[in-house]
Amino acid sequence: MKIRDFRSEAHRLADWMADYLESVDQFPVKAQQKPGSIFGQLPVEPPVEGELFEEIFRDFRDVIVPGMTHWQHPSFFAYFNANSSPPSILAEMLTATLGAQCMSWETSPAATELEQVTVEWIRRMIGLPEVFTGSIQDTASTATLQAVLAARERVTGGVAGRGGLSGHPSLATYTSAEAHSSVDKAVRLAGLGSENLRKIQVDAQLGMDARALDRAIAADRQAGKVPTCVVATFGTTGTGAMDPIREIASVTRRHDVWLHVDAAWAGSALILPEHRGLADGIDEADSVVFNPHKWLFTNFDCSILYVRDVQQYVETFAATPEYLRTRVDSQVTNYRDWGIQLGRRFRALKLWFVVRSYGVSGLQSMLRQHVALAEDLAGQIGGERDFEIILRPTLSLVCFRYVPGGFDDEQLDDLNERLLHKVNDSGKLYITHTRVKGHFVIRFVIGQTYTGRRHVEEGWKVIRETARSLVG
Ligand SMILES: *Cc1c(COP(=O)(O)O)cnc(C)c1O
Repeated sequence: MKIRDFRSEAHRLADWMADYLESVDQFPVKAQQKPGSIFGQLPVEPPVEGELFEEIFRDFRDVIVPGMTHWQHPSFFAYFNANSSPPSILAEMLTATLGAQCMSWETSPAATELEQVTVEWIRRMIGLPEVFTGSIQDTASTATLQAVLAARERVTGGVAGRGGLSGHPSLATYTSAEAHSSVDKAVRLAGLGSENLRKIQVDAQLGMDARALDRAIAADRQAGKVPTCVVATFGTTGTGAMDPIREIASVTRRHDVWLHVDAAWAGSALILPEHRGLADGIDEADSVVFNPHKWLFTNFDCSILYVRDVQQYVETFAATPEYLRTRVDSQVTNYRDWGIQLGRRFRALKLWFVVRSYGVSGLQSMLRQHVALAEDLAGQIGGERDFEIILRPTLSLVCFRYVPGGFDDEQLDDLNERLLHKVNDSGKLYITHTRVKGHFVIRFVIGQTYTGRRHVEEGWKVIRETARSLVG
């Protein structure tokens, strides 16, 4: 493609992008295709000769877009959002255009220094103390794996990385029974063994029982194992449950165990001072991760990992072969040493565009709006006789069940599952589920950039009417 054609196509795509964002609510939120239906529409053989951009774009529009679930649809209430915003998209266009590989300071000084500035801005915005230093990672899963690896190196004094763990006493990790699957993955990948992951019991609100944690750590020590890391969750994926971080921190401090806080979704809410109390004790963590790509209008991927002891953390990952040495290594930050991968995308740019475009107060008011909408929705659901709210709603996540009279628990599970699929098949909104104490529960998450009162009310109306039509 000639640059001249690139220019004209880019103008046309910009129009398509704006039209898409303006009319995304016209699409079914959840893709309605059957497995294999997109694959079947595409040729088996790659084209031998280059094709016209127009033809490629036509297939994008006619085959690919209809096969997408529209995460930027204002009625996307599923999982946790991966929200986005115009300044973030524009920055991604620039990042792609620069096409820089930002592994070292020298390979793009501005990328490194802008990352230092933005993670520091965000640290101030979420109220973490100055001892924390951040870096941008791809996902919370990666960040948690890296925290577990750093904890492994700390507790073994580097033995694990040098000599391996063969013959070493088992390293135990602790998390709650409600924690994200990325913790299980991290423990397996770090070579600690899933059998050495303790799923600590939770209380009635599904937060980790800190006393049970204390007992589990003590029992492992007694048995000659090495307690290594506790992963506490601030806002679980299933229900938004919050572990009591202050109490957990007093346990980890006493036992000298690394404390990692997984705040992947709820971390964004820490820009609201009125909710910081929920994360009380987070200042005592050794590491904290949260995803601006979930609920801070910065499109996927962008996850920030804050660590307390940067030097020890970086030692876990540093590797400088001759061909990567530069004259300034002693004066600069080389982010290639801050995680698993060598190559790095320039992710700070979109975060910087977002914070500058909205300002702290603009971001705060968008989040406050989401939380207020969730509170209203919970109030309305709670006001219906045939629905029940499950657990205290947290921030912008509401969990509920349809509970008409005359059905036993098993039938209610089945009914709620049918309700969920029927609602999603309508294309009008998208919701997902979890299980609480074995029961099928519907989750309704408010966090898309353009979600307003109208979308939440319409969504709730569809759910209500669909539910009643199932038993009517
Ligand atoms: C979403 C989520 C994750 C995983 O996030 P990725 O960035 O997709 O890896 C981890 N923990 C919690 C609590 C989450 O909600």
